[in-house]
Formats: sequence, structure tokens, C-alpha cells
Amino acid sequence: MDFKRVVNIIPLTRVALTSTQIFSYTVPLKLHGQIRPGMLVRIPFGGRRLAGIVSSPEMPRIGNEIKNFKPVFEILSTAPLLNEKGFQLANWLAEYYAAPLGLAVKAMLPRLTKKITPPVLIDFEKYNPDFVLTENQRQAVTQISGALGKSETFLLFGVTGSGKTEVYMQVMERVLESGQQVIMLVPEISLTPQALERFSKRFGFENIAMLHSRMKATEKMWMWQKIRLEEKHIIIGPRSAIFAPVQNLGLLILDEEHDSSFKQYDQNPKYHARTVAKKLSEIWSCPVILGDATPSVDSFYEAAAGQSKLERLPYRIKADVGLPKITVVDMKKEKEQGGVSIFSDYLKYEIIENLHKKRQIILFLNRRGAANFVMCRDCGFVLPCKRCSVSLVWHSWRGSLLCHHCGEAYELPPFCPNCRGANFKHFGIGTQSVEEEIKKFLTKEFTGEMPAIARMDRDTTSASDDGHGKIYREWASGKIRILIGTQMISKGWDVSGVGLVGIVSADTALYLPDFRTNEKVFQMLVQVAGRAGRGKEVGTVILQTFNPDNRAIQAARLQDFESFYKDEIGARQKYGYPPFSKIVKLKFADANQKNAEKKAADAKKVLEKQNGFPAEILGPMPGFIAKLRGRYQYYIFLKVPLGRSKELYDYLKGMPSYTDIDVDPESLL
Ligand code: ADP
Ligand code: ZN
Repeated sequence: MDFKRVVNIIPLTRVALTSTQIFSYTVPLKLHGQIRPGMLVRIPFGGRRLAGIVSSPEMPRIGNEIKNFKPVFEILSTAPLLNEKGFQLANWLAEYYAAPLGLAVKAMLPRLTKKITPPVLIDFEKYNPDFVLTENQRQAVTQISGALGKSETFLLFGVTGSGKTEVYMQVMERVLESGQQVIMLVPEISLTPQALERFSKRFGFENIAMLHSRMKATEKMWMWQKIRLEEKHIIIGPRSAIFAPVQNLGLLILDEEHDSSFKQYDQNPKYHARTVAKKLSEIWSCPVILGDATPSVDSFYEAAAGQSKLERLPYRIKADVGLPKITVVDMKKEKEQGGVSIFSDYLKYEIIENLHKKRQIILFLNRRGAANFVMCRDCGFVLPCKRCSVSLVWHSWRGSLLCHHCGEAYELPPFCPNCRGANFKHFGIGTQSVEEEIKKFLTKEFTGEMPAIARMDRDTTSASDDGHGKIYREWASGKIRILIGTQMISKGWDVSGVGLVGIVSADTALYLPDFRTNEKVFQMLVQVAGRAGRGKEVGTVILQTFNPDNRAIQAARLQDFESFYKDEIGARQKYGYPPFSKIVKLKFADANQKNAEKKAADAKKVLEKQNGFPAEILGPMPGFIAKLRGRYQYYIFLKVPLGRSKELYDYLKGMPSYTDIDVDPESLL
């Protein structure tokens, strides 16, 4: 009898969800002894040569007809790249995010390189602090340590400087003692070096691995192997470090868990590292710590509902300098009193004061959504949808206002429906106009030497010329006195000379038609405000707005997360938004507008034809960004009642293959 060995292989490519995801191949005799599950191989696939992973015997095996199978070309990796638990995670990723299995596996793997090179590591001197934990810290460490070996989630809720990192380190110590590994995620690549330094000082740099996208592929591969061989026990990195090839995981940590960079947005599967961390916690039976000063509403709700445990660190360790004082300035009143500048009188006064005191100044603008709003410049009114109460978005190519929740179109009224004013106009101040205004104002009003002003936005920080690094150095050294910027400057940079943060405009972000709008605004305002007063004196924050009564703004003024949360969770429940439902965003794009619209309409028909489809279908509607890279965007939103999401994934598999699926989108825009 002609005996041929057969292996099942997952090609690392996009395979239609309706098709099988695992394919059978024969193994040439010379490879018989070598091939093992988890190894990377080269295979013929659909007329091409592609990489694939030899599937685990545990994965569902399809087909047993041997004679027509094609043979594997060659083996590309000397060792397996996925272990049994890795396969388990890949399978879950593919199911949960309705993504091709091959792409789920691909997201988890590094780019294979022939060479590996060790990255340059800085050897920090080790140092053990001699302070005693505060009562709150001790409590948190005890609780979390008690859960080692169990799958449990902890929300460590504490303001900046309350000692969260110290709690992470003390729990980590115990995990390391038992020989296990720890994955610690930080929100941005730019914050990785900071974390690296602190953890190296405590645990020794030789035990720490970092994994991030700016590393060379050969360095990443080096790190990857060290982790796989358990030569490194602490893994630090942004989102993708969640897929580190750990062999013995004992703890997961997400610092600044609310940060949206934890969500993958442009490749499939569109995973959220927090959701993946919870799955890993189940797979490995270990706890997850979510740490934050402004937790996500989802995570706080989970804790309130008893699905995770809340540990609080309510006080700053060094309590001598308090949180900055935030004053809200009502710009409607400024206008009524004849103000024409984009700066209020109070902000102008503080700018001069701080320049005289030789303190640095940040002028912040939130540009999110600025171009798409039509707002009354007299009273601040923005037209909402009559049915959904979300703000309408201006679409110039159709010449109408659209509701991004239900798709209803409205005509642009000639007058403001609220105050009858004729200044119902596009809204949007840019960093450039702020720079021009500040220069004009200072020439007129300021008698001292002209301060150095810098602008930080996409124009001034193109990747090629290290604009980012240059501005940072001049800012940190105190050379730049006034820094004007957008979201880019809202977090991370700890500069102690900042005496004043002027939030010139936060309003455009408030009108984004997204259920997470208030949450994001609150988090952002608290973050920006936190840039002030990091030195020895309390900082001043001036928040200019047309919406002084907005609850996100009010809560930010008090820097009171819990009062914000209470209001917000009520609104979410009322309108049935997450965490009271699950949202899936389906995106359709085409260079031709009619085609894009038709793709979406056809997809909707497919959904509607399925009996007992477990979700409410909203749309299709044009995307908030109607045209992206020359392609028109159309969206459909699925609102799934809790408890029915499992069924949903089976339905999603039937979607036309051009559908871009985003499960639990971070934003509806
Ligand atoms: P967070 O992570 O919440 O911002 P950190 O853990 O970084 O806070 O703590 C802030 C500062 O206080 C750090 O310099 C840290 O070393 C120090 N610190 C932490 N816990 C204590 C403690 N119990 N006693 C004294 N200093 C502490
Ligand atoms: Zn509507």
C-alpha cells in the first residue's frame, strides 16, 4: 500500500470565512521525521507559494481523501512557532473577531528572519526601594497575589502617582519567584522606554524583553526566541506584545487600560488587547491587572457588576503638590460680552502671568472631527438627530447633514434653530490660527522678550525629520515657552516647568456621533490637565468651551471619574449601548460611490435573509469619513443584545467576502 503522511495546514492568508480554514497536504518522505505542529512551512496554495502553519492535531481536521493532496514544499522554521495554547488562542481570535484563521495566526507571529541580532540594551543599576507600602497598596497586592494561579480580572483604579506601578512590581515579584512569565502592556511605543527603565532597575535588564513595531525584525526575532526559551520572564510592549510566545504565563498587566491604542484598527483580526488578555487569563489560568486613573466605562462597569475586582488607590503618594486646578470658561458669555478672540480674557491674563513667572505654557486643541461640524458661532448649538439625539454630521459632497446612527438626512437650516442667529457655520480652529493669534496678541500686550513658540501637529512632525524628537528636547529643556498642539501632546510628556494648560477648544470632540464621545473627552481632558503642575507648584488649567454644562466637561473640571461614570452608564443603558449591548461595525468601501452603496445594501440583504438573526441592523449609511484614500465608505452597525453574541459569529461568516468586520469597535466613526 502506498503510505503517505498527511498534515493539516493553516495558510497564512485571507481565506473566505465560508470556506474551510485548514487544508490537508502530503509530506514528502525526506521531511517525515522533521515536521511538527506549529512549524512554519511553504505550501502551494491557489496557484501561489504561501507560508502556512502546521496545525495542531487538536484543531478540527477536515477531509481524509489523500490522493489529490499537494505536497508541502519545505519547512521554514526549525522549531514550532505556536504551542497548544497558542493554537487555542488563534482559534478563539478567528471565531470571536470573525476573521480568517490564517490571519489570526499571522497576527500572532513575528516576521521570520534568517539572522537574529540582539538589540542594544541599557544596563541600569539595580535598585530596591526601601519604603513600605501604603495600606491601599498592601491590600491590592494581597488580593491580587491571592488570585495567582486563577483566572481573575482586577481593576486597579488610582490617580497618577498613587503607586500603581509599585503594585504591579510587587505582584510580579511573586510570579517571577515561581518561575513564571509576565506580560505587561503599555499604550504607546513612546512610553515603552519609560517602563523599560523602571522595570529594569527593579528586576534586572537581562530578564526583560520588549517587543514593538519599531524594532528591527532581526531584533524582534531575537527577543521572541528568548521569550520562547523562557530566558526572559518579563515582556513589555504595546498592543502586539500580547502575542509574546510565552511558555508559562503567570500574570498579565495593562497599564492605562482605557487607551484606544490597545485596539487593532486596520488589520484583521481587529482585536482589543484587553479582550485578548482576558482570554489568555482563562487559557493560562492567571490573573489580569487593568490599571488606570480614568478607567474605561466598560471595565468599570464590569467591576461594579462583580465580574472583576476593584482595587482602589485613592491618594497620591506625594501629596504635597495637589492635582491642578481646572477653571471652565464659558465662551458663549465671552462672545456676548464682545469678545472676538479665540482666547478668553482669563486665558490671556494667565498666559502673561506665566510668561512673567518663566513657566511653560501648553495651548491645546482637540481637532477630532473639527471639519465635519456645523455649529452656531453665537450660541454653540449643534443640530442633533430628532430620533437619536446624536449630533448631525455635514457631508459636503451630498450637501446635507446626516445622522450617523440611523442614516436620516437633514437639510442645513439657514438660521440657527436655537437662537435664530445667522452664524450657523462650519466649525474648526486649527493650530495654525492659534499660533497666528497668540503672536498677534503677544506683540500687542506683552512687554518682555518674545517667547519661543512651537507647534506640534501632523504638519510639523512628519516622520522623516525627527520633528517629534526635536520639539520634545527643546520643550523639555525649557527653550520652547509656548507649545501649541493637538492630541499628540496630551499624554506621556512629563515636563515639570509647565504652569499653564489652556484648552483652547474641546468642543468639536463633543459632537462626534459616537456613544464613546463623552468618555473619550473626559479621559482626554483629565490627561491634558495632568500635564500642568508636575513640578513644585500647583498648575493652572483653563478649559474654554461653548458647553460648560456638558457632563464630561463638568466631571473633568472636578477630575471626578466616578461622578462621570454614574451619568455615563445611565446614558449607555438608556440607549442600549455597550456594555449593555455588543456592537459590530461592518464597513464597505469602493472607489465608486454607487458601488460602495450597493455592496452595503447587498450585505444587508444577506443579513436580513437569515432567520432569527440575533441583532438589530442599523444602516447602511455613509461613513463619518465619507471618502478615505479615494474610496467611498459605507457602514452597517449591528447592535447585539447581550447573551446572543455567540450565535452572531456564525452569521457573520456568511457575509460577502468584501465585508470589513470590526467586532467591538472602539469608535463608530
Ligand atoms: P503610578 O504608577 O500610580 O503613577 P507609581 O507606582 O509610579 O505610581 O508611584 C509614584 C511614585 O511614588 C514613584 O516614585 C514610586 O517609587 C513612589 N512610591 C510608590 N509607592 C510608594 C510608597 N508606598 N511609599 C513611598 N513612595 C512610593
Ligand atoms: Zn438618527
